[in-house]
Amino acid sequence: MKKNYTCFKKSQWFFWRTDPKVLDTIQSGIKIKKKVFSGKSPYQKIEVMDTFPFGRILILDGFVQLSQTDEFIYHEMLTHPTMFYHSDPKKVLIIGGGDGGVLREVLKHPIKKAYLVDIDKKLIEVSQKYLPFVSKGAFKNKKAKIFVEDGLKFVRKYKKFFDVIIFDLTDPFGPSLTLFSKNFYQDIFNALATDGVLSIQSGCIFDQLPHLKNTSQKLKKIFPFVKIHQASIPCFQCANEYSFTIASKFNLEKVILKDIEKKYKKLNLDLKYYSPKIHFSSAILPKYLKEKLKQ
Ligand code: SAM
Repeated sequence: MKKNYTCFKKSQWFFWRTDPKVLDTIQSGIKIKKKVFSGKSPYQKIEVMDTFPFGRILILDGFVQLSQTDEFIYHEMLTHPTMFYHSDPKKVLIIGGGDGGVLREVLKHPIKKAYLVDIDKKLIEVSQKYLPFVSKGAFKNKKAKIFVEDGLKFVRKYKKFFDVIIFDLTDPFGPSLTLFSKNFYQDIFNALATDGVLSIQSGCIFDQLPHLKNTSQKLKKIFPFVKIHQASIPCFQCANEYSFTIASKFNLEKVILKDIEKKYKKLNLDLKYYSPKIHFSSAILPKYLKEKLKQ
């Protein structure tokens, strides 16, 4: 085994560590075919690479954000549980999500308008040029309104307006840090309509448990109903068991399988991961995790 291990050429691999603030002890490597793009924006370092195991990947500040092979799992699970919990969402806000994956999924629903607010114009441009398989033309859809702005400022202009708000932000450091705060969750609550629902990518269950716990506890202080869904995202590697926290102004327990199945059939969306049964099974958390989240 030793022989094989030392004979790889470092230049052919992309290494990334788990969230250094939480767990600085795991490093993962992905074998690269080709570096496609590398550049800096005022907010972050943006890299696009073709890899052997995951196809084309997007990397921001050294962290893998998505891959060609499994981005559908992340984008479907960040979008559809929330869009199906809400009876009939018409005005949807996406904060972050400059790659266009969540926008693509939201536009599959019979909505009136999807607002996407990303702070980084360059990221949106790089995504449209090098990652067209993610947005699939969603940025050109007439129901899509794109804003290049800090989500923090944008949301404060709205009161009781949005049916659904989706956080597709980078992990809580750099440009997105201030958005994972109790004050901002209160701004989100105020911007949501009376039966509004919020969905947040709340990090990986293994190496970002403190962040997940922090997020769900803060949300419980503001929203009457909070639920955690999970799904496995292979390209996030050791961090692959990923969490999506849903916070709502109405009782999520009142939404039953029959309702979701009826709506799913009527909408007839072509989805590869999400389904009415996944909607409920993905919210069943193991005992150890429920206990850790309570501690
Ligand atoms: N899939 C990713 C993940 O797992 O974390 C998220 C991808 S998405 C590309 C993250 C987006 O959040 C980036 O486009 C970044 O520009 C955006 N973002 C970061 N901070 C922001 C802020 N304050 N306001 C709006 N967008 C922000």
